[in-house]
Amino acid sequence: MLGLMQSQPLLISSLIQFAERHHGDAEIVSRRVEGDLHRYTYRDLARRARQLANALDADGVASSDRVASLAWNGYRHMELYFGVSGSQRVLHTINPRLHAEQVTWIVNHAEDQILCFDTSFLPIIQAIHDKCPTVKKWVALCDADKLPADSGIPNLVSYEAWIGAQSDVYVWPEFDENTASSLCYTSGTTGNPKGALYSHRSTVLHAFAAALPDVMSISARDAVLPVVPMFHVNAWGTPYMAALTGAKVVFPGPALDGKSVYELIEAEGVTMAAGVPTVWQMLLNHVSANQLKFNTLKRTIIGGSACPPAMIDAFQDQYGVTVLHAWGMTEMSPLGSLSTLKNKHLHLPKDEQMKLLQKQGRAFCGVDLKIVDAEGREQPWDGKSYGDLMARGHWVLQSYFKGSNPLVADENGRGWFPTGDVATIDPDGFMHITDRTKDVIKSGGEWISSIDLENIAMAHPAVAMAACIGMPHPKWDERPIVAVALKPGKQLTREELLQFYEGKTAKWQIPDDVVFVEAIPLGATGKMLKTRLREDLKGYRLPGL
Ligand code: ADP
Repeated sequence: MLGLMQSQPLLISSLIQFAERHHGDAEIVSRRVEGDLHRYTYRDLARRARQLANALDADGVASSDRVASLAWNGYRHMELYFGVSGSQRVLHTINPRLHAEQVTWIVNHAEDQILCFDTSFLPIIQAIHDKCPTVKKWVALCDADKLPADSGIPNLVSYEAWIGAQSDVYVWPEFDENTASSLCYTSGTTGNPKGALYSHRSTVLHAFAAALPDVMSISARDAVLPVVPMFHVNAWGTPYMAALTGAKVVFPGPALDGKSVYELIEAEGVTMAAGVPTVWQMLLNHVSANQLKFNTLKRTIIGGSACPPAMIDAFQDQYGVTVLHAWGMTEMSPLGSLSTLKNKHLHLPKDEQMKLLQKQGRAFCGVDLKIVDAEGREQPWDGKSYGDLMARGHWVLQSYFKGSNPLVADENGRGWFPTGDVATIDPDGFMHITDRTKDVIKSGGEWISSIDLENIAMAHPAVAMAACIGMPHPKWDERPIVAVALKPGKQLTREELLQFYEGKTAKWQIPDDVVFVEAIPLGATGKMLKTRLREDLKGYRLPGL
């Protein structure tokens, strides 16, 4: 017997319809490529998303066709989120920090029909347009009078001219909630990029769950600043969560340096911000160098790579800003876990609480995690046993777009996604990532966590960033070394840093050497690129070998 309640498909258009009706005057503020601030409301956004849907109809873009974006965080990009997906096309967000050849590969693999880009990315479009035969129209996200002249790109229109010609009357269609909504490729640090194809159902469920108080805790009282790019796993779903709750949104555009981000936070009363640790490092450096404080910021969600405990301490102790350490993946929409205390932890001493908050945190309802050994046997949740981390849930990938199905079946035939991370889980369900599988350092048959060693180095006041890698060793198999970039004007010797490790980790885990570098190489999403670091250190030999 079926229940007798109304049934409506979970569609992305329902989020913008809700925001328009119930939070129509809530603001969306964007730093534009031109440098100025643009501000309007959900009501304006909804109206223009409908004009965009009509423009796609007028161009004969079929349902499920891909419409691509190559853009910073801003209001026009948010219109694409709702107008493209809501009208049953698929928004393909492309990372502009990839090489032109990778962008070409992705556009062709996705068979994009239209590509919308910020004018600052014109050189990429000029380099790739004649290699992308599926793209019928190139749309510059600008006013008609700002359209780049003599660009050499055929079928180039300005976004404003394109949608401005259309009516804002449009009825969002209803269709199967499992229909594809958006497409995001992994950054391809290992091999060709792979496409994660999200559905309306997975996106809406992720937004509902991730906005809960134990997760990102987003509400109509918030002003949300997604520093995490909209081309990186849908800015962790924040645009959807903002519409779902009616939160004010503040978009930083291309200005991601510490000063610009700080000024935007203060000027717009931002209460909650989300981004990867490298961005927050720039912000903290700016705030501490200029002896500033945060007047409205209450929480930052930090994830995408391990958040150094020193950063959590700095935000919390010096500035009274709560850090929510989150873990996720492109393949998981992206959120899998986030660190917030349980009721029973509220009376623990502060340092015990901090130990929990430094972990990648608890899974939240809708996604399940487990750790397994090499034979696939589940490992105990004792906070000590390591295992390959596996995930399963409503917003976890089943198979790659035009690609393989990576799932591993358990004894009941249920598929689990192998995350490629190695983790422990404690009895309270707090998951702690020790490494990516390929970064684990194996020394004398034991595993050493590169993340733990990096966190110790980054707690040193002279260190800006640290990356730990294993170097081949004839006796121990591998030994850790730590590559360190110093803060401007700071000095530190190899011996001083090795001394700093004493008492903070087991003696045999202390790195064998310190290599000082100008900067740690970063990948397209701001994460440390250890593959590049290994190449840079090709001729390196461990001391004494
Ligand atoms: P890519 O896999 O292409 O680098 P993703 O953004 O999907 O892009 O990266 C997901 C990976 O990032 C995770 O599998 C994990 O290794 C790492 N990661 C994400 N968040 C954290 C975190 N809080 N702590 C440690 N590692 C993290």
